[in-house]
Amino acid sequence: MSESHTRELSFIPDWPPGPLDSHRKQSAFDWKQLKLVLEDINSLRLKYKVWKLLESEPLFAKSKTTPSVDEQKKIAAQQMMLIAKLDIVPPEVYAMGYLPRYRFLMSVNEALHAICPSLSVKIAVGVGLFQNALRAMGTEQHSWFYNAAWSREIVTCLAITEVAHGSNTKRIRTTATYDPQNQEFIINTPDFEAAKCWIGNLGKTATTAIVFANLFTPDGQGHGLHGFLVPIRNPLTLQTYPGVLVGDMGEKIGLNAIDNGFVMFTQYRIPRENLLNRTGGVTPEGDYVSVFSEPSKILGAALEGFSAGRLGIMQEATNTLAHSVVIAVRYAAIRKQFGPDKNGPEQPIIEYQLHQWRIFPYLAAACVLKTSVYSLTDLYLKIIEKSQANSNGIDLLSQSVGEIHALVSASKPMYTWTARDAIQEAREACGGHGYLKAANLGELRNNHDACLTYEGDNNVLGQQASNWLLRQWTEGVQSPLVINHCLEWLMCWLMRSIVEDVSLAKQKGACSFEAKNNTQVYKARDLAFIYSEFYAISSFRLSCLKSDVAASVKPVLEQIHRIYGFWVIDRHMVAFYQGSFASGASFAETIRSNLLSSCQTLKSDAVTVADSLAPPDYVLNSVIAKSDGLLYQNLQNEFMTNPGALERAT
Ligand SMILES: Cc1cc2nc3c(=O)[nH]c(=O)nc-3n(C[C@H](O)[C@H](O)[C@H](O)COP(=O)(O)OP(=O)(O)OC[C@H]3O[C@@H](n4cnc5c(N)ncnc54)[C@H](O)[C@@H]3O)c2cc1C
Repeated sequence: MSESHTRELSFIPDWPPGPLDSHRKQSAFDWKQLKLVLEDINSLRLKYKVWKLLESEPLFAKSKTTPSVDEQKKIAAQQMMLIAKLDIVPPEVYAMGYLPRYRFLMSVNEALHAICPSLSVKIAVGVGLFQNALRAMGTEQHSWFYNAAWSREIVTCLAITEVAHGSNTKRIRTTATYDPQNQEFIINTPDFEAAKCWIGNLGKTATTAIVFANLFTPDGQGHGLHGFLVPIRNPLTLQTYPGVLVGDMGEKIGLNAIDNGFVMFTQYRIPRENLLNRTGGVTPEGDYVSVFSEPSKILGAALEGFSAGRLGIMQEATNTLAHSVVIAVRYAAIRKQFGPDKNGPEQPIIEYQLHQWRIFPYLAAACVLKTSVYSLTDLYLKIIEKSQANSNGIDLLSQSVGEIHALVSASKPMYTWTARDAIQEAREACGGHGYLKAANLGELRNNHDACLTYEGDNNVLGQQASNWLLRQWTEGVQSPLVINHCLEWLMCWLMRSIVEDVSLAKQKGACSFEAKNNTQVYKARDLAFIYSEFYAISSFRLSCLKSDVAASVKPVLEQIHRIYGFWVIDRHMVAFYQGSFASGASFAETIRSNLLSSCQTLKSDAVTVADSLAPPDYVLNSVIAKSDGLLYQNLQNEFMTNPGALERAT
């Protein structure tokens, strides 16, 4: 590594010496050089700073046992206050331009999510999503709320989902009826099925909610869904206001430090100005005025601002994927079972082909997805920045975001499902010890799980992406990005085949809704998945080709690329035969033998690749995968110091 690079990366501590050294020495490249390809240096610098700061804070100490749900909520609330006090996001950030500010906030979120997922979600919901929604839907008159959320004067939440409707937001039934006499909106929940529910921060703490409701003017005309700023509790006393019935939903599978809640409104009055009126407003007399003619377009434009949340989830999922696979690789390098000679030395489980095939594709996926989420985020932020600089931004936004929206909708499922599968594989790959709470894989799994559902259920998002792709196919492919992707035979074949299936079903009398629904399994769902995989692999390729990539890491990047590529093709093998891209055994045999031989080649570098993905031990928080490689000493220490471990049962 060049001297300037060494200096530049000195904020990243070296690993302690230990049994992993023999593996580390097998690599011809420096793990920090690879880290530089996988992650942005400014983001890394910020993350290490946050981790260093929080490691010494008792409020952020890792607990050996699971605190009660109430205790977890209390700790997260205190942590949230401490984060504000520590000035992790200094006021200068607030004054930055959209892109650098957003990048800064996303890096802080990554750092926090890696140590406290609940806290990061709490801040994301209470500050990030709320502010995004205000920016997308509000105007100058709402800036007090924007600033108050930032300074934690108010605790906020975003209330879209209802008991009976989540994915189909257009069928939400909460109403907001304008009363010109008092110049107020009356918010009402018709029945329990229309109660807002699952709303993060609402259960115990939120003082202001952005509530999505159907707007009605005094002439009885409905104008579709709009966002309203609705006071829920007194910020000083946390007493609920009359007309608001609000409560906590109870214990969940994970993320229990967040108070997810429900709320019902009974003819609850709020000022006219609390309507978020960027896309449509009501005059004091009660006339509706909008820049859009179609209500669905208003909702679409408003919801578009939330794609940033999905990108945040993809970043978090990539880190979760990376952490689980780091645990699995380090464990596999040290853990020994069996050997060629029954009575001779045993070999590390990383030597077994089966084990390599189970975990190395996830190691490669973590590298590929780290680079591609970065470039996708860049693409997205530039589009939003452009729309904000333009006086007709919303219009521009709704025109230009079609593709990026489809790409994010396809990618959020692909990233989060890959992470879900990686955590499970890693848990099993670490055997019984992987099941210990102290191994951290259980926490990773429980906290990651909700990502598959919130900010858009994965299957529903995938449908949106495949619908968009199919429109491109039938209307003639126009976008350069899609043309690029369409060079990939599989996508083209799937698109053509789905269009044919839909048309055949229609000829047989099916309506469009039914015909499209019946192409989901095996085809449209796969199409969305492959679309995001191709984007991921293409952007990884571009990152590898950058001129500042050190020559020493190029061979390992090539191996990562091959493993991920062969793995993806293998997962879609049936389609290649179905579409006659391949016939006979040789295609499958070649792909699979290439995958296995590439895994074998990566073996000597696996620990170093894992090192380049790994955060410091405090963040990884796994007793079975510490960077010192002292697996059994660390386990012994854990067993012996477990609270009450050696005490007699009472
Ligand atoms: C931890 C957590 C936090 C949340 N926080 C918030 C929040 O702060 N604010 C908020 O407003 N909401 C929040 N939500 C709600 C979340 O956004 C919804 O759960 C999500 O949008 C899915 O809606 P649903 O639960 O109603 O599922 P449904 O829409 O009922 O889906 C159920 C199943 O049906 C399938 N399905 C639905 N439609 C179709 C179709 N057309 N074809 C095939 N299959 C279909 C889905 O794939 C899914 O598997 C949160 C949820 C969780 C779990």
